[in-house]
Amino acid sequence: MSAWETVKLAIVRRRLLSNRIPKDSVYPLETWMAIKASVTAKSEKELKNIIGKKCAEEITRKEFDEYQLFMFREQLRHLKKNSPYYEEKLKDVVPDSIRTFDDVEKIPFTYPSDLAEQPMMFMAVSRTKTAREFTTTGTTGKRKVIGYTTNDLIAKVDIISSALRSVGMKDNDVLHIMFPAVSAWDPSLMLAGACKVAGYGSSTCSSPDIKEQMEVMKKSGATHMIGLPSFIYRVTALMSSETDLKSIGIKKIISTSEPLSESMRSKLQNAWGCNVLDVWGMTEFGLACAIECDEQKGLHTDEANLLFEVIDPDTGKRVPDGKMGELVVTALTAEATPLIRYRTRDIAAMVSPPCRCGSAFNRKLLKPSGRMDLQFKVGMGYKIFPLLFDEILFSNKNVIDYQMTISKDGFRDVLTFEVESKDQSDGVRDSIIADISNIMEIDDGIKEDLIAIPRVEFREIGSMEYSAKAKKITDLRENFDL
Ligand SMILES: [Zn+2]
Repeated sequence: MSAWETVKLAIVRRRLLSNRIPKDSVYPLETWMAIKASVTAKSEKELKNIIGKKCAEEITRKEFDEYQLFMFREQLRHLKKNSPYYEEKLKDVVPDSIRTFDDVEKIPFTYPSDLAEQPMMFMAVSRTKTAREFTTTGTTGKRKVIGYTTNDLIAKVDIISSALRSVGMKDNDVLHIMFPAVSAWDPSLMLAGACKVAGYGSSTCSSPDIKEQMEVMKKSGATHMIGLPSFIYRVTALMSSETDLKSIGIKKIISTSEPLSESMRSKLQNAWGCNVLDVWGMTEFGLACAIECDEQKGLHTDEANLLFEVIDPDTGKRVPDGKMGELVVTALTAEATPLIRYRTRDIAAMVSPPCRCGSAFNRKLLKPSGRMDLQFKVGMGYKIFPLLFDEILFSNKNVIDYQMTISKDGFRDVLTFEVESKDQSDGVRDSIIADISNIMEIDDGIKEDLIAIPRVEFREIGSMEYSAKAKKITDLRENFDL
């Protein structure tokens, strides 16, 4: 490392609040949020007048709410002044009038299509101040551009480093980062950077080659692992017959960027002998927005940087904690492309504190079941999330991966599954068909003769190309009604 890089690293380290989390913190992520509220109150008069000069341990939920509302008002002021899109959209909004979460509901939503139509109009800093730009096509096609200033990147590194502390990483631990074929933006780079400033080791391998992944992981002495669940699953299914994966000594697996099915989780946990924790994030808000604790009953949210709401997608009204709805997120601290009340299209629910892990005031997110845009209709018109097929297919111990095609045969929907399976016998085929047919939505369709008996076609292991976020479902039906 050059002298200049050492200096820069030292500067970034000093600015990270995650480095101020006491060693004996019960749940580091929450402690870090309280530190952020306390530090902000010391430098911002308006907030200091409300919550005083409290240290992190003294911050209550009510005071943390005040921190969030203060940051919300600050964000509105910043956007009205600097973002052409929000200058127009918020022209009748008086930031000072937002004093409660009910007031927040008066602010109009931002839709993914708005951002895709005119991404540059959202920018709230000049492009010379943008350190990086990430683009995402998402599920609807058009490119969204999200800018990050240096402060935005440092804030992301800070939350990632706190989250890694919360999953139990300690000074001598090493994180193995595996994201093959991820091109929209590079989470590996951000994760490796976070490990560096937090003082953890890391090893990155972007190869889709399973053996290479295992070699890099073993050589680095990895203690923790992060990646796409479908890829970690592939590594696990193909390597578990020749290696005792438990002997590698992985203490925790972090699953990110794709929905994690419970059947996949339990198989991974059995194979590696450790917990698998889920992460929720969106390119629009950066990598780590919420992460599970060992209780595995909801994901702790980054409330220092983000405001989470769940609404009824039809009425737009907020629903109470515990009730499912569409997740709406506001970036409270972002500088370059902050989004206000952004409709994520994800179906989720909020869970009220406390949590049995020791977290006292942080609101959790019930594991999102999937993006509304990815639901599809079959048979009787039931809407299905692709995750449902993950649950069924990956509960079969022979299945490595699969892809599904929906087509029409007359008026019937035909579901064809191409399956990479270790055992390609008729018995396995019949049990997969039976499991799929037993899904309530499929079963009703079959009974009414609107869905044909599902078809299973075996493929050789390794013959289906692995690609991250591969579209597992191809819909060939014409004029089908979304
Ligand atoms: Zn917890």
